[in-house]
Amino acid sequence: MPGFREECGVVGVVGDPEAAKLIYLGLYALQHRGQEAAGIVTINEEGEFHGHKTFGLVGDGFTQGILSEIEGRSGIGHNRYSTTGASRMIQNIQPFSFKTPLGAMAIAHNGNLTNADVLRRKLEEQGSIFQSTSDTEIFMHLLAKSSKEQLLERIVEVMAQVKGAYSLVLLTKDRMFALRDPFGFRPLVLGRRGSCVVVASETCALELIDAEFEREIAPGEIVEIFQDGFIRSYFPYQSPRKAFCSFEPIYFARPDSKIFGEEIYNLRKKIGATLARESHVEADVVIAVPDSGVPMALGYAAAVGLPMELGLVRNHYVGRTFIEPSQSIRDFGVKLKLNPVGSSLRDKRVVVVDDSLVRGTTSVKILRMLRKAGAKEIHMRLGSPPITHSCYFGVDTPERGQLLAAQQTVEEIRDFIGADTLAFLSLNGLREALGKENCNNYCYGCFSGDYPEDTGRAIEAQRTDTLGGPGLRAGF
Ligand code: SF4
Repeated sequence: MPGFREECGVVGVVGDPEAAKLIYLGLYALQHRGQEAAGIVTINEEGEFHGHKTFGLVGDGFTQGILSEIEGRSGIGHNRYSTTGASRMIQNIQPFSFKTPLGAMAIAHNGNLTNADVLRRKLEEQGSIFQSTSDTEIFMHLLAKSSKEQLLERIVEVMAQVKGAYSLVLLTKDRMFALRDPFGFRPLVLGRRGSCVVVASETCALELIDAEFEREIAPGEIVEIFQDGFIRSYFPYQSPRKAFCSFEPIYFARPDSKIFGEEIYNLRKKIGATLARESHVEADVVIAVPDSGVPMALGYAAAVGLPMELGLVRNHYVGRTFIEPSQSIRDFGVKLKLNPVGSSLRDKRVVVVDDSLVRGTTSVKILRMLRKAGAKEIHMRLGSPPITHSCYFGVDTPERGQLLAAQQTVEEIRDFIGADTLAFLSLNGLREALGKENCNNYCYGCFSGDYPEDTGRAIEAQRTDTLGGPGLRAGF
């Protein structure tokens, strides 16, 4: 369905003889963050790479036989949804493996560099030859070109040059580094499974492999993880503010995950309750557009004391391609994924809760189906403010011209999608649901056009080229 698309998922495992299998399971749990391609790379004690990359889903592209050949006690994995770089290029599938004067390395990245074009041009002018079109490769070239003696110093130097969003894992033959940009746009969590250390985009990946959640990797932090489970933490750059992507809790993250200090399920219910407070109308029933609309609809229904019904059933087995009969069927694509439940809708005044509205074309089709199934009134409620701007930090958004809310008023959108009433969560309502303490730590760029770029300049001003520079702190 057209809309905001997931970005990527990363997993890293240090210190387990079955590293590849654990990474595979972690990627399985993070499949919602990217379905274009997946990869796993390990480096053994001799500095040799082992790994496998595949287009499509993790479960389809890895077999028991493939996994048993990926030797090594440490490794990293990546689920890809391309935000930069052509999606059907095998060279763009991560993790990327490379050799530097400091040895063999592999890297996997979630996010998007906002100065990738400038850096790439500069590197190419200096003779770098790029293998892929992905901005992640920029990290590799910058790391390889650095004149610093220690890898940690090189990472610190690279962090001073790249701008934008990165939650990434960097593997060497004897350790792994996990780092997060100073704004902390994308999540990255740390867990333990005995003496084995696991890093992943979301906590749901830790839970599947019985790893205990320890903490989130902080914005601007570099965590150095050794084979025996010992970790060291460094903070070379402090951002004057954080900028967690507010779309992560609204839509991307799994509801059973905990990221940015929030339990996503609870937060979505809070969003639904806030939405109800802001814009409830007389109705008989509340339904959700599955899946991310479900907790919001539960929160909404509980807040107004209405029953929540299953109004749309989702088919979870829709593949990437399907054959349409030559005589075209109205709303075919959406019907394949969602089908209305007549008994929940017939002759009822229905509140439909969805997480967001991007182009509006899917909503048009859903509402037409609900009407056809007998809904008497349809009141559409969106659990996010109108999306009026594109994202530059790793979320694939349509051009501004295709964002319905950037072009039309709420009344015009209501008319376009065919609802009796329409209301979005206000920006203040979103901030309220995120909580007084936390709401200033989020990016709301796609709702407000107010991107955290000014703070980008502030970080630039603080940059330090040496490990002993200001702001660097080693700990526990
Ligand atoms: Fe997230 Fe929107 Fe900010 Fe992009 S612009 S990081 S999608 S909140």
